Amino acid sequence: KFITLEGIDGAGKSTHLAWLEDYLCSKGVKVVVTREPGGTAVGEQLRALLLDQRHTMHAETEALLMFAARREHLDKIILPAIQRGDWVVSDRFSDASFAYQGCGRGVAWEKLVLLEQWVQEDFYPDLTVYIDVPVMLGRERVNSVKAADRFESETDAFFDRVRTGYLERVRQFPQRMQILDGSLPLDEVRAALAGVMEH
Ligand code: C5P
Repeated sequence: KFITLEGIDGAGKSTHLAWLEDYLCSKGVKVVVTREPGGTAVGEQLRALLLDQRHTMHAETEALLMFAARREHLDKIILPAIQRGDWVVSDRFSDASFAYQGCGRGVAWEKLVLLEQWVQEDFYPDLTVYIDVPVMLGRERVNSVKAADRFESETDAFFDRVRTGYLERVRQFPQRMQILDGSLPLDEVRAALAGVMEH
């Protein structure tokens, strides 16, 4: 199975991902945990380029680099693991491109659909958990833990658009995507996540 976790910055993805890994291991599932952008040697270099505050780049350049990293990620990590029969849990996947590059930066949705088809063909996650939090809560959490990168200097309006993008994807893929309320206390989000995994 291929599972992805999505959410705006500060939604709590990393915390929940670590818990999910332990949870799946305790069930005897062999799981590969990975992230985007990144996950491979080339992907991590692209990530460094994408997050570097010294660079500015056209929104479509950013989208193309994200999909380039994804192509590598599929080839080197995700597809081989699935073929071995392992599970893969990825911190972000293509829904993030629709949310961030699409709604956040204004890259045409149809162009992203084309890139997604080109790179993934008919390959989609079996399950995507979208952790939804209000922008203000995400920002408070990020400020307390993370070093600044190119995306953290974005405005609340940017993250509002990103959140709208995610909600649009959830509306388009109601079967694949499950929405969790990330503003609830940690144990309640975990219980909800465990509930989603039982299905
Ligand atoms: O999830 P993580 O915090 O590791 O992502 C690193 C940065 O890259 C985040 O600030 C995220 O908003 C951004 N990102 C993006 N578009 C993607 C994936 C990640 O803007 N498709």
